[in-house]
Amino acid sequence: MTDITIALSKGRIFDDTAPILNAAGIEALDNPETSRKLILSTNRANVRLIIVRASDVPTYVQYGAADLGIAGKDVLLEHGGAGLYQPLDLNIARCRMMVAAPEDFDYDSAVRQGARLRIATKYVQTAREHFAAKGVHVDLIKLYGSMELAPLVGLADAIVDLVSSGSTLKANHLKAVEEIMAISSRLIINQAALKLKRDAIQPVLDAFSAAVKP
Ligand code: ATP
Ligand code: MG
Repeated sequence: MTDITIALSKGRIFDDTAPILNAAGIEALDNPETSRKLILSTNRANVRLIIVRASDVPTYVQYGAADLGIAGKDVLLEHGGAGLYQPLDLNIARCRMMVAAPEDFDYDSAVRQGARLRIATKYVQTAREHFAAKGVHVDLIKLYGSMELAPLVGLADAIVDLVSSGSTLKANHLKAVEEIMAISSRLIINQAALKLKRDAIQPVLDAFSAAVKP
């Protein structure tokens, strides 16, 4: 039987994916949250899971180190999508990509006046395209996490980050000032693997499609 490898990240992606995997008849034999293993066997002898950083999932799939993966739209936009099919929106890990600024910062009038804004973000590509489309001049500062801190210590005027409940923004006296896009996670497939291993991959794709909740 053809072997297939699925790349996943721990945390919310794994939590939200486990029920879909189970519906597809795939169950991990170890819990990635408690195990230190990076390669997890499943109840299916030909299917294994690899556990990687969320932002590394497209890279593993692009180069064929994994045949399939699950990655957020945020991560896919930054990666660019080379070598990947993105056949299915899984509707999981849903949140919004937002521009956020300090509660006392008048973002709209800064934009109207044509101010040059300093924006801190992990999502440099998405932010660049968003502000270019609006005709807003920005200096982008790349960060790898805790974006909320940047405006509080004068590193940036505003941030581009993912927001779900808004409670992290609120706790740091920030407010969402603009929505860039809705985000959810997608199934991604290595383009060559889909051709060469279609017999093994198609049933997983079909089972995932059937398990997706609207
Ligand atoms: P790392 O923690 O390794 O730096 P990360 O923070 O991107 O990476 P997670 O926090 O597990 O990893 O996020 C994984 C994916 O879940 C993101 O790429 C995004 O698509 C989605 N996500 C992030 N934040 C939220 C949120 N607050 N609510 C729902 N989904 C989210
Ligand atoms: Mg995180």
